[in-house]
Amino acid sequence: MAISNSYLKSVFEQVQKRNANEPEFLQAVEEVLESLEPVVEAHPEYEEVGLIERLVEPERVIYFRVPWVDDNGKTQVNRGFRVQFNSAIGPYKGGLRFHPSVYQGIIKFLGFEQIFKNSLTGLPIGGGKGGSDFDPKGKSDAEVMRFCQSFMTELCKHIGADTDVPAGDIGVGGREIGYMFGQYKRLRNEFTGVLTGKGLTYGGSLARTEATGYGLCYYTDAMLKANGKSFEGKTVVISGSGNVAIYATEKATALGAKVVALSDSNGYIYDKNGIDLDCVKQLKEVERKRIKEYAATHPDAEYHEGCSGIWTIPCDIALPCATQNEINEESAKALVKNGCFAVGEGANMPSTPEAVAVFQSNGVLFGPAKAANAGGVATSALEMSQNSMRYSWTFEEVDAKLKDIMEGIFEKCDTASKKYGHEGNYVMGANIAGFEKVADSMMAHGIV
Ligand code: NDP
Repeated sequence: MAISNSYLKSVFEQVQKRNANEPEFLQAVEEVLESLEPVVEAHPEYEEVGLIERLVEPERVIYFRVPWVDDNGKTQVNRGFRVQFNSAIGPYKGGLRFHPSVYQGIIKFLGFEQIFKNSLTGLPIGGGKGGSDFDPKGKSDAEVMRFCQSFMTELCKHIGADTDVPAGDIGVGGREIGYMFGQYKRLRNEFTGVLTGKGLTYGGSLARTEATGYGLCYYTDAMLKANGKSFEGKTVVISGSGNVAIYATEKATALGAKVVALSDSNGYIYDKNGIDLDCVKQLKEVERKRIKEYAATHPDAEYHEGCSGIWTIPCDIALPCATQNEINEESAKALVKNGCFAVGEGANMPSTPEAVAVFQSNGVLFGPAKAANAGGVATSALEMSQNSMRYSWTFEEVDAKLKDIMEGIFEKCDTASKKYGHEGNYVMGANIAGFEKVADSMMAHGIV
């Protein structure tokens, strides 16, 4: 699919010119603009007020130096970013990613996606994202702490409970959030819900750790059921072995499926008996070891080097939960050939545009990231509500709200896809349903 509407085309040409060195950002913008054609055609007023030109330009990009001292006494310097993309419907909200691949283009793609995802949750949160090219892997706790403190020393000038509320993402879990929260509190002398994904003893929400993975399964389950299918008795392949992958494995198993594979950036494990999740949690959450170690204690399991081979394992349902562009055209074709009939995206933009085209042209049910993985940010917004109320809901209460929200998101995607004559195209459905609320708010606010 290519953009054919002349207004959207001219906006995209300008985006290409201005952001030529940010391919991930261009990929995310192009996919959204393609979907918005019927909406923009029905609303000529958007062009008059330059609504799309404003939508694709972040309200603010903050870029800063993060100096810190390693265990050998050597000074290290990383780059820090926060992109405050769109605050039309609420304070900026979106995770922080610590990974060596981070640069401005990755943070802008994630921040742009976050606008629509956050809108889909139905909660009052705008779009933002941040991070650093710091790699927590192989660093001591003391090094991670010094890095987080330095990162927050600058970031704290730009965030706040009613302004911008970051959370975790790749490389940022409970440990990192704890160090950053401690530093924010110390610098600002205030105890507020400025970060989400906090520990349970200092304002965190029950079920936040599980939320993205569980939410992915709730969304995928709603999509399957709407098409006369379910997780029951199905074979599932999940990539990654971090926060999202672990809790997607837990919920898919609880819904009656057998998860047979997980991975990390070095390779993947295949266990035909079904993944032993307690072992993975111990390896990944406690010992911070590589997924390869799983095979040492599970003689029936195979370990293979490399990430993409995981998509050649026959499965009914695939849940990519590692990183962007991890499923290319070839991997998508392998999945289809082996009978995969549903894909739910746990990671952000894990399928290339070519892969999405393969899924859609072969009738694979496809739940796009901005809808399917919105459970994390939705539960973060529930954490913000609890912090504002100075109150905590039980695990069951939060989980029930999460399930409702995810089923509601599927409903919105389905309805929007039907309204614009593309039934079953949940990519279009998600983009349009997410866009409408943001566009209405931007129209109401005037040209800002
Ligand atoms: P984690 O850091 O907990 O885990 C990431 C996992 O993906 C690890 O197993 C990691 O392996 C693997 N991975 C990361 N980068 C690559 C790469 N370049 N190639 C192959 N594997 C890779 O992160 P999360 O589970 O939190 O995030 C996973 C995805 O889900 C991301 O796309 C994130 O944006 C998205 N997401 C996360 C949310 C959350 O609440 N945490 C919310 C919504 C989306 P290794 O250890 O070897 O690096």
